[in-house]
Amino acid sequence: MITNKFPNKITNKLELNEALNAGSHAWPGGYPLVLVMADNEVLCWDCFRQEYSLIAQTLPPREVILDPQWTPSFIEVNWENNSLHCGNCDALIECAYPFEEEEEKEKEN
Ligand SMILES: [Zn+2]
Repeated sequence: MITNKFPNKITNKLELNEALNAGSHAWPGGYPLVLVMADNEVLCWDCFRQEYSLIAQTLPPREVILDPQWTPSFIEVNWENNSLHCGNCDALIECAYPFEEEEEKEKEN
């Protein structure tokens, strides 16, 4: 079992494989994860899975050098960005603490 700590830096293919195999949500906690790329765009988990070979090629042991948009930087939890969209497919990315919980916090204050 991988101990998930976020942001989880991706520096080689082994780390990329481990991140993909660990799944789309943090454990424990079940928080939704995104792959943040070298150009600061984010990828949803579906695109991560689908474009895995393209992403993996940019990491050591490197086969080719591609556009930084396919070079992964780290895995992060989308804590509270309600309007975060995938840089590739434009899907709205799930958020760990959506708006309703923000309201709860405000009532407590
Ligand atoms: Zn996507």
